[in-house]
Amino acid sequence: MKRFESPLLSVLGGYWDGAFQTTTADSFVVHNPATTEPVATLPKLGAHHATLAVRSAARALAAGAPDLESRKALLHAIADAHEANVAELARIITVENGKPLAESAGEVRYAVGFYRDAARHVDALAPRTLSERLRGCDWRIYARPAGVAALITPFNFPLAMLAKKLSAAIAAGCPVVVKPAEKTPLSAIALFGLLHKLEVRPGTLNLVFGDAPAIGGVVCKHPAVRVVSFTGSTAVGQWLAAACAPHMKKLSLELGGNAPFVVFADADLEHAADQLMSNKFRCAGQTCVSTNRVLVESSVAESFAARVAERVAKLTLGDGAIPGVDVGPLIDRAGYDKVWRHVQDAVNRGARVLAGGLTLRPDLGAGAFFAPTVLFGVTPMAVASSEETFGPVIAIGTFDGEAEAIARADDTHYGLAAYVFSGDAERLERVAEKLHFGHVGLNTATGPTPEAPFGGMRMSGIGREGGAEGIHEYVEWQTTPIGPM
Ligand code: ADP
Repeated sequence: MKRFESPLLSVLGGYWDGAFQTTTADSFVVHNPATTEPVATLPKLGAHHATLAVRSAARALAAGAPDLESRKALLHAIADAHEANVAELARIITVENGKPLAESAGEVRYAVGFYRDAARHVDALAPRTLSERLRGCDWRIYARPAGVAALITPFNFPLAMLAKKLSAAIAAGCPVVVKPAEKTPLSAIALFGLLHKLEVRPGTLNLVFGDAPAIGGVVCKHPAVRVVSFTGSTAVGQWLAAACAPHMKKLSLELGGNAPFVVFADADLEHAADQLMSNKFRCAGQTCVSTNRVLVESSVAESFAARVAERVAKLTLGDGAIPGVDVGPLIDRAGYDKVWRHVQDAVNRGARVLAGGLTLRPDLGAGAFFAPTVLFGVTPMAVASSEETFGPVIAIGTFDGEAEAIARADDTHYGLAAYVFSGDAERLERVAEKLHFGHVGLNTATGPTPEAPFGGMRMSGIGREGGAEGIHEYVEWQTTPIGPM
């Protein structure tokens, strides 16, 4: 069978000591989620390879922190490499993730923003001296690279999630060991092919994938690794945090969410419906900022739901590589089964299906295609209200009054993204303050931007990505009071 070919994927292997490594190891196969056909066979790297990658990074670290100018130059060079290859990188994202090509191209441009923004913050990491002599000393404060950083990324944004972490680590001067998701490792391999052409100290950038728990075990235990940055499920985040605890590593964890989308009766319903559409179907609803629970004030709920159902009915589901497709397949059968279970449970509890539903689409291919769906009358008891569905399902429930809206929206252990729509500015401010979410969109359902810190409260994680705050996750502050010579 003819496999996927790309000029950016001439070598398929891990990367350490400044070179692609064609090791002998067991192999695993990456599949196209739209067709389920094999796309590539890769070496299944494990603990031994992870150790080699960490050692390679540790040697780069021992050679000293790269100066600020070279960090900025590298960040811009990586951004330029993305920009020169938008179409090909997008093709690779789509073949392994399934999202529509236009979305993949948008992801590449979004990734660029992280490298450019991180470059803008590098100068602020120069050592500073306190203006006053205190305790008879001059006080100098250094932003030291924290050490080797392990960057573990999920399948939903194979390049952008890497960009969030890699840009900040490079800005801080940390060598990295990157571990992409085994479902979508090709985007990272392609990026490493581009990085290989840049002037970088060998060992600065390393890549492993294959046996995730084995690799995770190494990076959590190895003393050279001082930062573990992870985006993915809460269960794996908890495992990593526990494994790192005895070694006191810095952790940056962006975990699951359960985003509420609250619409008050005084909101502009057309605008709110448009915003919901722009938020909900990106990557077929498999994003951490994807709305999970729509809560609408009773008096406008039917009218809002009708507007949404009308929009959803117009969406085209299919292989993301086909022009005109709005929503691609889910990443795999397990993801599909979860969405199916959530919809079935909501319907069993009395929800009405206004669009989509449990409709099989074998005509679209072997992939896990779930029809974009609107459910009305979803109760707090439904599984879809408490668990992240991670699929193209809009689950609408109702509330009466501000107090109930706040109580319902905040009734979750998670705390990543929330959205509130109202025509009353004071109410928006009041409600935002009461919600324990790291990202609260007010009359907007936009996701994060590279220039601002983004991250979760409660079970949605620790730490922030984006802006200067994102870089601080990779910095150890060192203070040197200097006495008389
Ligand atoms: P998702 O649902 O996004 O696949 P996961 O949390 O399962 O969420 O995976 C996110 C990333 O974490 C992937 O790169 C995966 O390989 C990795 N991963 C899963 N288990 C472990 C582990 N025990 N140690 C390190 N990484 C892991």
